[in-house]
Amino acid sequence: NSFLQGAWALLMSRYSGQEDIVFGAVTSGRPTTLARAESMVGLFINTMPIRIQVSPEESLLPWLHKIQEFLVEVGQYEYCPLMKIQGWSEIAKGFPLFESLVIFENYAVDESLKQNNTNLEIESSPGFEKTNYSITLTVVPDQKILLRILVNDTSRFDHNTLSQMLGHLKNLLEDMVANQQQRIGDLAILTEAEQQKLLVEWNDTAVPYPQEKCIHQLFEAQVEKTTDAVAVAFENEELSYGELNTRVNQLAHYLRSLGVKPDVLVGICVERSLTMLIGLLAILKAGGSYIPLDPSYPKERLSYILKDSNASVLLTQTSLLEILPDNQAKLVCWDRDEELIAQQNLENPDFSVTPDNLAYIIYTSGSTGKPKGVQILHSALSNFLHSMQETPGITAEDTLLAVTTYSFDIAALELFLPIITGARLVIASRETTVDGEQLLGKLQESGATIMQATPASWQLLLAAGWAGKNKLKVLCGGEALPRKLANQLLERAGSVWNMYGPTETTIWSAVAQITNESKIISIGRAIANTQIHILDKYNQLVPIGVTGELCIGGAGLAKGYLNRPDLTTEKFIPNPFNTDNSKLYKTGDLARYLPNGEIECLGRIDHQVKLRGFRIELGEIETVISQNPEVAKAVVAIREDAKKYKRLVAYIIPQKEQSLTIAELREFLASKLPNYMIPSAIVTLEVFPLTPNGKIDRKDLPAPEITRSQLSQELVEPRNDIERKLTKIWVEVLDVDLVGINDNFFELGGDSILAIVAITKANQEDNLQLTVKQLFQHQTVAELATVAVPKTINQIEQKISDTSPKIEKEQPSRFSKANLDQQDLERFLAKVKKGSNNQQK
Ligand code: AMP
Repeated sequence: NSFLQGAWALLMSRYSGQEDIVFGAVTSGRPTTLARAESMVGLFINTMPIRIQVSPEESLLPWLHKIQEFLVEVGQYEYCPLMKIQGWSEIAKGFPLFESLVIFENYAVDESLKQNNTNLEIESSPGFEKTNYSITLTVVPDQKILLRILVNDTSRFDHNTLSQMLGHLKNLLEDMVANQQQRIGDLAILTEAEQQKLLVEWNDTAVPYPQEKCIHQLFEAQVEKTTDAVAVAFENEELSYGELNTRVNQLAHYLRSLGVKPDVLVGICVERSLTMLIGLLAILKAGGSYIPLDPSYPKERLSYILKDSNASVLLTQTSLLEILPDNQAKLVCWDRDEELIAQQNLENPDFSVTPDNLAYIIYTSGSTGKPKGVQILHSALSNFLHSMQETPGITAEDTLLAVTTYSFDIAALELFLPIITGARLVIASRETTVDGEQLLGKLQESGATIMQATPASWQLLLAAGWAGKNKLKVLCGGEALPRKLANQLLERAGSVWNMYGPTETTIWSAVAQITNESKIISIGRAIANTQIHILDKYNQLVPIGVTGELCIGGAGLAKGYLNRPDLTTEKFIPNPFNTDNSKLYKTGDLARYLPNGEIECLGRIDHQVKLRGFRIELGEIETVISQNPEVAKAVVAIREDAKKYKRLVAYIIPQKEQSLTIAELREFLASKLPNYMIPSAIVTLEVFPLTPNGKIDRKDLPAPEITRSQLSQELVEPRNDIERKLTKIWVEVLDVDLVGINDNFFELGGDSILAIVAITKANQEDNLQLTVKQLFQHQTVAELATVAVPKTINQIEQKISDTSPKIEKEQPSRFSKANLDQQDLERFLAKVKKGSNNQQK
């Protein structure tokens, strides 16, 4: 009995990932001490909870003995009603103590069974002999031991699942018999055939790729083929492949003269522009690896990245000099040093860069309070881009619209994939990428056939009224793709692809094409030369359908974290399935294999979150808040409000007798964290709710209540039409009761995304002309109203044409810029001005 119950506990443990297992067991209930008990008529059966700790380090036999001792000990409660036991437990009323039941029909065991003890027969009988529990295992020792599984709800467990489950139980039982000295964590649950499928068949991704080539060399090869074709466009500028290459070469030679060579780290902090692309390629050609620095980051973060990486050169532009912190790097200002750069050699440099050199380092949020640098090799990037050329695919006829900030690794797909393929790259400006309406205009005007963005950016485009573009290949990734969004994209685009992958394994590691037939929004399968294994806590493969941690191996793996050997060892573990020193990256993502070999993502193991595509370790924000001397403790959570809008909420316990205001704390955080990491609500508490074992109970933290009564200033009513429009929008977007014209958008719970929503609404519904940047600069209605300009008729007409359903724009519209001369424009503007003066739309 204890042997079978142990096996069942092990099976439940492997399936659930839990170590504390409770199931029910049926006892006969006939008192053995009573001589006549055998012949008494009546139902004596009783059900008891059996609780077994499965600690994988333990050896099998001592563990089974413990179970046996436990069963003897609980024997004294054999006649105790289950209700009474439930009353003694901490499990709340109404919740079952257990969901599975084991019935061991304890007859005398046949001698033949003892000799042939692994001859087990499996039978799954869904819907047969119902009990009150989801799953019932009945064990009938007869000629053979018969294991039979019964289910209550056949919609939850189909026949295949049950057969698989019994098959795993059989494997465990056989391995327990064959290897009695094993640690219980090492007992095998999978059959050889399953192992083969999971390890080999579904990870058979080996394909040749240009292993010996770096990305800039692939670009150079493309330049030879399509010298005069347009390679890249930004606003009104365009460069052919030949021109782009020449500009890159000159900068590369210049960087080389400053000491850039393989594995030298070069920071790059520039606005989105042609120079951004030229700079990135030039750093690679010179042999260096680039570290993107987003100009919107606070000085302190930029300073940390520059110091941590010890970048020896920093490529920037004059207009950004004032936002840069003091640093050790040699400064190259591409506009200031233009003349020097223009004197450099035009030819491809012949520097000895190899695929084993670093291509870039991207900093991502770090749970201990500081961002960490992920080091990516040229070989990983070459493999990745080569794989993307095949699936989702790109050809020389394509135009890719690049919208992602280059501090996010996925930008490397957008910037490099087209130019190693002969396609056309269009770079959208920073203003365009955060303004749905401008983005929509750009998507139409650029003739894009491929665009990659996070779900949040696609939502932005939909919110701006995007009606569709049937030739567009939509790549959506960085965060789970919601079903509703997938459907909306499918209605509007040529094809939709769900892209999955962490920075640590080079941009994307799995890809799925989503179609109207897709029942589950999966992340598909591993890309070329990549392996995905789903493992339990003890690095064993979990069965198909069972949740485990998604671990990635193969050509995309990063070299590790810069200067963080400890963290590198923790996250990049030796590959338990290979003997060649290769590694697996533990992503922290929960996932399962579906029966067709695709993978479904199911959330996170830890406190890393994704908010509008940004990767955030809640621990990093907590650490930064706790650095404020007036804060005693802080915890940060992600919460959904009534409108399903997710936001970061910080809960703080202030130091005693301190009078920290929310505005002061926000200011403190803004000096250290990027906008997207600043909580939109800050709640002050006296104590944190705790779980029974003393940890902070995140589920029990109160929902934030944001009302203007928290603000110190008086309510001042709007004074004119624009102020009225803006206050109305703020009330809607921030979901607050009232807004006064001097109230601060961010103190009322606004964040960088709500800022985009508010500005999109103002521009679309009220025909104002505002940018998100302006809201960051003018944070009250009164201030913002001073810079709000009503739209021209031209722009309104443009919007109407952009949002017309699925019309590919071939002819320029009557009012498009191309058709208007300067005089026309001035006439229009004069008309509109007059109109707006008269308060007419
Ligand atoms: P990053 O390093 O910023 O690319 O973030 C990687 C993490 O984002 C992954 O580990 C996942 O948690 C999440 N992620 C990325 N793409 C997807 C996707 N398509 N579906 C679900 N989660 C995703």
